[in-house]
Amino acid sequence: MRKIIIAGNWKMNKGVADSVKLASEIAAAAKPVEGVEVVVAPTYLATAKVADVLKGSAVKLAVQDVHWEDQGAYTGKVSVDMVKELGVEYVIIGHSEQRQYFGETDEKVNKKAAKILAAGMKPIICIGETLDQRNGGQLEAVLSAQVKGAFAGISAEDASKCVIAYEPVWAIGTGVVATDEQAEETQAFVRGVVRGLYGDAVAEGMTIQYGGSMKPGNAAGLLAQKDIDGGLIGGAALKTDSFIAIVDAAVKMVQKA
Ligand code: PEP
Repeated sequence: MRKIIIAGNWKMNKGVADSVKLASEIAAAAKPVEGVEVVVAPTYLATAKVADVLKGSAVKLAVQDVHWEDQGAYTGKVSVDMVKELGVEYVIIGHSEQRQYFGETDEKVNKKAAKILAAGMKPIICIGETLDQRNGGQLEAVLSAQVKGAFAGISAEDASKCVIAYEPVWAIGTGVVATDEQAEETQAFVRGVVRGLYGDAVAEGMTIQYGGSMKPGNAAGLLAQKDIDGGLIGGAALKTDSFIAIVDAAVKMVQKA
């Protein structure tokens, strides 16, 4: 069975003290369960303190981006070695907010993915279409280009360590969630693109999360879909109760299987 990953992307929402508090609550509530991984991605500023809080818990640490260069004159940027030193395991790249506001491109996502993998960490590669692209019949072309761009030159062995988060842009932070069927159909398509690049074993083993207004009320339905292997969660990850309710939905599903 594929690993289910429930990851909270806290974006620019919690300062250091609030991040430590939220991480402590989540670490206390999330028990280790075979097949389910719980991940939190605080602001860079809180990474070191959250790492301390998570020590010995079942919760893994992520950051929300990284630069692809090793070091140098890149004002405002953070390198893979800097975050690795703090115990970070996952790095979110290609998020639609990065693409929309900060010039993230498939080429940059690809450079970041290669660097993260070379450092022994795992990228969570976000992809997703806008509503105009979906309505304009470009869904498959957009997702296929994003996946192929992100994985260009990456070996099958490295690809098998990557996570994809399918996040329809129109569902992020809007309260509008893709239906279970819409999400499943699209995620199966994404897995097919991975299959085309790397074959069955990598495609079947890859965790492909859904992201976009996942909440306690819709998580069970989404997570029950064959090609949805967890969630990348924004709004509902900012409160312990709602985040843990989603983790619990994943645990229930895995234990029922
Ligand atoms: C996200 O930003 O990755 C996300 C899915 O946000 P939300 O859950 O708030 O839609």
